[in-house]
Amino acid sequence: MKITDIKTHLLQVPLMEPFHIALGVITDVTSVLVEVQTDEGITGYGEGAPGVLITGENLEGTEASIRLFREKLIGTDPRDLEKVNAIMNRASYQAPTAKAAVDIACHDIAAQAAGMPLYRFLGGMDKEIETDMTVGIAEPEKMAAKAKLHVEHGFNVIKTKVGIDTATDIARVKAIREAVGSGVKIRLDANQGWSPKQAVEIIARLNEYDIELVEQPVPRFNFEGLKYVTAHSSVPIMADESCWDSKDALRLVSERAVDYVNIKLMKCGGLYEARKIVSICEAAGVECMLGCMVEESGIAVTAAASLGAALKNITRADLDASFSLAKLPFEGGFTVEDTRHLVLSQAPGLGITGLRREMLTSREAK
Ligand code: MG
Repeated sequence: MKITDIKTHLLQVPLMEPFHIALGVITDVTSVLVEVQTDEGITGYGEGAPGVLITGENLEGTEASIRLFREKLIGTDPRDLEKVNAIMNRASYQAPTAKAAVDIACHDIAAQAAGMPLYRFLGGMDKEIETDMTVGIAEPEKMAAKAKLHVEHGFNVIKTKVGIDTATDIARVKAIREAVGSGVKIRLDANQGWSPKQAVEIIARLNEYDIELVEQPVPRFNFEGLKYVTAHSSVPIMADESCWDSKDALRLVSERAVDYVNIKLMKCGGLYEARKIVSICEAAGVECMLGCMVEESGIAVTAAASLGAALKNITRADLDASFSLAKLPFEGGFTVEDTRHLVLSQAPGLGITGLRREMLTSREAK
């Protein structure tokens, strides 16, 4: 089997409402959907959603990188995932979002060719995963009302964004806990918003509200600071922006700098690299969460959910991105049960049967 073409389609649609985090505001789903075509008639679907606040990538750059990979990958067997990733890594040291798009599509093809849904191809038998629901930064009462609504709809875990200012962060978490009651898990994400000492102090005060974990309390480059917070907090600490790829994961777990790691396909470059992170973490006794970019439209979420369902060291999921779109730009993929469970298709691969092309801007490769 050989890759004969890689087509890109751009999606840019407003979120149902803007999403505020410590790093800024996200207003749109911005994503490059790819179709990897083969000489055997199998088409694989992938998605690269650049989270400009997190990865610093954008739509145009992601599309340009995919075009570069296209030149190098035509003629390659897409089932040779080692080779596909080696070619992309040689072509560009960076561009994880573009790599993720192509890597997901090639996994889709490999699983289709094997006649298995992707989660089975990845080695698992579970076909569903429970996701949390995230509340963006706003006034405490507004966040509490949102969290309550999500719980009423069926979510058991609320992830809430903090990291702006201490007094209001505490008021935010207090209001949410009072609104949702004691049976619901609350996880926090500071998106690098605190200094190490500030983080230790705030987390100690927040612990009164029964916090499950805190994601990325300090700036991404501050591994020593992350280690300090982990050592001085009774609440488990999770790395997100500090863990890009398997090399970051190795450093974080070797230095015992974190309790958990949040993997995103757009940070690490796809399923191939994500599996390495999971293995490194598992060997160190560190559990993983699978996250997503707010900008994702759902194809990458389907891939992440497949990995999360398959691998037992992925114990948490923050795969709520597709809930922020009124309509998804593809047919098939996962379905949602009881509000919070992403249930994977039994069809081979990702189970995506086609793109809703009226939502996309397609460009011919040059
Ligand atoms: Mg995060």
